[in-house]
Amino acid sequence: MAKVNPNYQKLPGSYLFSEIARRTAAYSEAHPEAKLIKMGIGDVTRPLVPAVIEAMHAAVEDMAKSETFHGYGPEQGYDFLRAAIVKRDFHALGVDIADDEIFISDGAKSDCGNIGDILDVDNVVAVCDPVYPVYVDSNAMAGRAGDYDEAAERWTNIVYMPTTAENGFCPALPEGRADVIYLCSPNNPTGTVLNAEQLKVWVDYANANDAIIMFDAAYERFITEEGVPHSIYEVEGAKTCAIEFRSFSKTAGFTGARCGYTVVPKELVRDGQSLNVMWNRRQCTKFNGASYIIQRGAAAIYTEEGERQIEETLAYYRNNARVIKEGLEAAGFTVYGAVNSPYIWCKTPEGVGSWEFFDKLLTEANIITTPGAGFGPSGEGYVRLTAFGVADATVEAMERIQKLMAK
Ligand SMILES: *Cc1c(COP(=O)(O)O)cnc(C)c1O
Repeated sequence: MAKVNPNYQKLPGSYLFSEIARRTAAYSEAHPEAKLIKMGIGDVTRPLVPAVIEAMHAAVEDMAKSETFHGYGPEQGYDFLRAAIVKRDFHALGVDIADDEIFISDGAKSDCGNIGDILDVDNVVAVCDPVYPVYVDSNAMAGRAGDYDEAAERWTNIVYMPTTAENGFCPALPEGRADVIYLCSPNNPTGTVLNAEQLKVWVDYANANDAIIMFDAAYERFITEEGVPHSIYEVEGAKTCAIEFRSFSKTAGFTGARCGYTVVPKELVRDGQSLNVMWNRRQCTKFNGASYIIQRGAAAIYTEEGERQIEETLAYYRNNARVIKEGLEAAGFTVYGAVNSPYIWCKTPEGVGSWEFFDKLLTEANIITTPGAGFGPSGEGYVRLTAFGVADATVEAMERIQKLMAK
């Protein structure tokens, strides 16, 4: 008799976005005239830039001719893209990463989820609270999370590290054991960053304890401030303890096109095994590479023209982030994020829970946000707003909130 993976039975329902959708639909039905502004889900709205579109069109033409047709590509990604990444994303920062330490994929979510394939089930996993849910659920599926405690809203074997305004959104080192530590900077959902000194503490901890840091840098291109590492490998010692995930989704509009990459340094060795060799083996066995057309599109981001064009798109979102931050502050709110991130983490009014505040914004300002509590217990007392919307609607949303709070 076939048996299913019992860990899936332990997963709580994906409550957050379905509950948001349910409450939004119920409100819309009762108030069909309401013009809702969506600031909840983290998807982009600007189209792919012309340089990317042209490169993809040319790649489609390549596929039409036998001389330039591409069948299965290298599982690790095409050399033209790996070389462009190494040059701009690492060598330009003075970081020595080699082409064969880059693994192109169909996005960072898959890689964040799949990386556990090369790790033992007995590792103790530590995550920030609030957290991007993929890190937790993928470990739960692999049997690394223990059991879900409904009352505590926590898995019994996961170490949760509160990251709140109280600790400046920098998690404290865990007291007990932590073997695999997920860090995300710029952070989803809080929009905050870890600076070089803060990251150094984690790198030193990981090296001293033979732990591994899973560093999610999906929002790296939103960094505007000095002193904030764009890559964890800018921190001395990181190549012996960290894997880094990058994505073209939020930085170049690839949420629908699908492309990202993961860096596994050759110096990263645990149990006498090279994780670079293991990840290569894993990818060659289970992955046949990202599409040639999409990788050609991604490579166009690394041309002078492409870079200039995606910077325009990034500037559009950064301006939205500024409008939201300034708008909420003018309405009397305390907000975090926005400066190096498309996310704004807004403190709810004193004594108002995040779902309660979500409902207030939905019903009284017709704005959809994401309740912070949905990202973990320490997200209670916050809501997340995104800067990925249309500029005019973003301005209007802030006017509505200011009017509401002035009542
Ligand atoms: C959006 C996001 C990703 C991944 O996106 P892909 O589209 O799968 O590349 C990864 N990490 C975080 C924190 C994200 O918000």
